[in-house]
Amino acid sequence: MSLAVSFEFFPPRTEEMEAQLWRSIARLAPLNPAFVSVTYGAGGTTRERTHSTIKRMLAETDLKPAAHLTCVGASREAIDEVVRDYLKSGISHIVALRGDMPEPGPYSQVAGGYESTPELIRGIRKAGVLEISVSAYPEKHPDSPSVEHDYALLKAKIDAGATRAITQFVYDTDAVLRFADRAYREGIRVPIVPGIMPATNFKGVVRMAKRCGASIPDALARKFEGLDDDLETRRLIAATVAAEQVERLRRHGFDAFHFYTLNQADLTFAICHLLGVRAQPTAKAA
Ligand code: FAD
Repeated sequence: MSLAVSFEFFPPRTEEMEAQLWRSIARLAPLNPAFVSVTYGAGGTTRERTHSTIKRMLAETDLKPAAHLTCVGASREAIDEVVRDYLKSGISHIVALRGDMPEPGPYSQVAGGYESTPELIRGIRKAGVLEISVSAYPEKHPDSPSVEHDYALLKAKIDAGATRAITQFVYDTDAVLRFADRAYREGIRVPIVPGIMPATNFKGVVRMAKRCGASIPDALARKFEGLDDDLETRRLIAATVAAEQVERLRRHGFDAFHFYTLNQADLTFAICHLLGVRAQPTAKAA
């Protein structure tokens, strides 16, 4: 069964980070991903950087970029203008999100802003974007009152026009399998693409997982025990664990995976290689 991969990047803050990002893009672009996506900082704080990163991808590579966009901190008019601008630049795939506030705390909507992700999706569709990806949470979103609410919201996002659901990173593979089964029973028919985060900086991953409600299986934690000062071994283990996770999901019928690269190429490249994804010549060198 063929395998589609996609890669997520974040817009760089400094020149050094920019150089790192473009080294990673140059390494990963020949793997011919289905798409690459660029995040939108909490509260829209990276609007310009997200946009310029994507424009450069379009100009200098053969990649098919998707722009993340959130409801936070902007009026409908401002968001609609960003969408029109993306369309004018040739970007026809948006990852539509509610988003998080720039400072930790409960979500609040600005006056005149989009009230919810389904509404944002309707706005994006109306502007003429046909490919719209959304988030999904196999282990429940921390703000969600219940698992049932999460399925209902995902269904509402799809009914509004979303064409793909990308999951939060999950290390408990059984949770992804249960989620996909139930999503199907709930009438969700768009592709569900598991989010894969290679766990090199294990302590950092544990912190991040706590914030977004993802669990860390004991068996995974044990694999990283005693390796705090041994980056090389952690990297080897992270690649193996992620490749095993993808292989298991593949055996259950998943054929597309979204890698949270954190702008680092090596692990994602190694995992893709283990999975049989090989570099191909590209018309434009990244
Ligand atoms: P939704 O799926 O719309 O909702 C998630 C939960 O929040 C639901 O339980 C819902 O009930 C609750 N909720 C929705 N609206 C409200 C409200 N008005 N008041 C209270 N609760 C509400 N974040 C960024 O800032 N930038 C990014 O680029 C980005 N990219 C992401 C990509 C992926 C694939 C994923 C999985 C997440 C990403 N995030 C990003 C994180 C995301 O913004 C947060 O998880 C955010 O808290 C929820 O946004 P959402 O679109 O997933 O929300």
